Amino acid sequence: MSEDITMSENVVASVHYTGTLADDEVFDSSEGKDPLTFLVGHQQMIPGFEQEMLGAAVGEQRTFTLEPDRAYGQRDEEGVIQIPREQFPEEMELEEGMMLVAEMGGNPAPFNIIAVSDETVTADFNHKLAGQTLTFSVEVVELRMATDEELSHGHVHGPGGHHH
Ligand code: ZN
Repeated sequence: MSEDITMSENVVASVHYTGTLADDEVFDSSEGKDPLTFLVGHQQMIPGFEQEMLGAAVGEQRTFTLEPDRAYGQRDEEGVIQIPREQFPEEMELEEGMMLVAEMGGNPAPFNIIAVSDETVTADFNHKLAGQTLTFSVEVVELRMATDEELSHGHVHGPGGHHH
């Protein structure tokens, strides 16, 4: 029965969570929203998140802190790139703090604009949480075994997952 399932590989987990930075600022939370649903063991989550939640049962609450290596990694200063302003559409308004998506080798590569001048745009391709130590408070809402179809696709179907 489902009561026997705990957080483990190939389980579909739904959790409520709040993530805070080292200064206690909340950077993300499911509070007031649907729970976050993911397929355990398929690299959908940052590594430390699943590691810390393994074995948790429905209703269980855990709080843990992840150093950058187990979260979004260290910042890489080579990920900060100067792009000529002329590579952006002329009519496009570019501002510090904007998040845009470039295409690199056919893959989407999101970046933040950290500075703009008449000649260059300074783009930061690091994840905005790279280099940060993150604390998560997580409560397990629901656990079920993934279907064969979900396992072959590597993601969750239905509520909180892919619809296709
Ligand atoms: Zn699918």
